[in-house]
Amino acid sequence: MPDLTETEADMTGVPAPAAAKPSVEAIGDRKLKASTMMMGHGYDPSLSEGALKPPIFLTSTFVFPNAAAGKRHFEGVTGKRPGGADGLVYSRFNGPNQEILEDRLGIWEEAEDALAFSSGMSAIATLFLSMVKPGDTIVHSGPLYAATETLIARILGRFGVHWLDFPAGATREEIDAVLRRAASGNVAMIYLESPANPTNALVDIQAVAASRDAIFTGETKPPIAIDNTFLGPLWLQPLKHGADIVVYSLTKYAGGHSDLVAGGVLGSKAHIDTIRSMRNTIGTICDPNTAWMLLRSLETLELRMSRAGENAAKVCAFLRRHPKIERVGYLGFLEDSPGMERQADIYRRHCTGAGSTFSLLVNGGEKEAFAFLDALKIAKLAVSLGGTETLASHPAAMTHLSVPDARKQALGITDNLVRISIGVEDADDLIADFDQALAAI
Ligand SMILES: *Cc1c(COP(=O)(O)O)cnc(C)c1O
Repeated sequence: MPDLTETEADMTGVPAPAAAKPSVEAIGDRKLKASTMMMGHGYDPSLSEGALKPPIFLTSTFVFPNAAAGKRHFEGVTGKRPGGADGLVYSRFNGPNQEILEDRLGIWEEAEDALAFSSGMSAIATLFLSMVKPGDTIVHSGPLYAATETLIARILGRFGVHWLDFPAGATREEIDAVLRRAASGNVAMIYLESPANPTNALVDIQAVAASRDAIFTGETKPPIAIDNTFLGPLWLQPLKHGADIVVYSLTKYAGGHSDLVAGGVLGSKAHIDTIRSMRNTIGTICDPNTAWMLLRSLETLELRMSRAGENAAKVCAFLRRHPKIERVGYLGFLEDSPGMERQADIYRRHCTGAGSTFSLLVNGGEKEAFAFLDALKIAKLAVSLGGTETLASHPAAMTHLSVPDARKQALGITDNLVRISIGVEDADDLIADFDQALAAI
């Protein structure tokens, strides 16, 4: 939470409020881990009646100590004075719960700054609106989350924005070719999503960054943004591999309990300031209650994701050997999958874990896949991912139903493909459930 510094207090003629106790970030030389900092960073109980947990601040506006302070706030918010708002003004711009959340979100990836949004899509839309103008080109990896593809092609397209894409698994040469073509115009942004859904193809972020740096210089160099919803922040940290901006649907692993919808964006202060001023204008910030729920979620993020990852490894090892399974599309199997050497190489260089979301190809087609899905007793039949509970869905008939058949084929979205997100249940219970459901085919 921002507080007036002494000099700022001098300028406004008001005494600074009781200074927030700085959060503990290190003990001696030991820099604290993100999982430790999730319990208290950015919140001082002494400013809220000693409450161990932050209250939920349900207010639409904040009282200025005097008129000069109000003027100073607005100079910051409107950009007349650099540095942004240095206090709370109005709840479309910021609020205490959201600011604590943003402080903690950035820690996992050592981002300079972070922003919270009302959904993953509102985060992505605000990012695009803040950086793209008519005539610009967005270069992106494909496939993207369906709503993101719609936003780029059908909505931004209406405003004269162009796009070019390369397949998620593209080589450096293929990426170079697309970026060179795009470089004849103004490339506003390179937008990635890794692993791609539902193919699980990984994008070589390091190669994209090297290609961007070789082809563009100075002012024309576009930022690289990436949707890290599937593996972040535990198993993939794109800022360390050349990305500039990381986008999240916090609805998934970060929220983690399938009980909220929210989004996040992380990056350098300069990029985040640009995106923040768009968010201030259009009001895509998340509400205080959701921010509070996310603070609770972040306390167990590492526990939940670690357990889900361990469970997925056990479940996939079982499924892979099952006679009714054609193939398991799990990142943990790339290392010993013939023909997947390039993907395995990207995995080794970028990821620290295989996640808990994967594809399962049962022998047969839609009939067999549906029989399996309908027989599941623990796993729930629902779209989405990253929750405490295991979910299963059928992309061809559900999330990707509207994708044209030819594109479905190209992406490998077959009728026997089932999408699974493993939760934090007991792994052997999950194996028993998948075993009995496969027997029902
Ligand atoms: C769910 C999801 C989104 C959209 O997020 P919402 O919170 O539903 O708006 C974007 N990208 C990916 C990869 C997702 O899984």
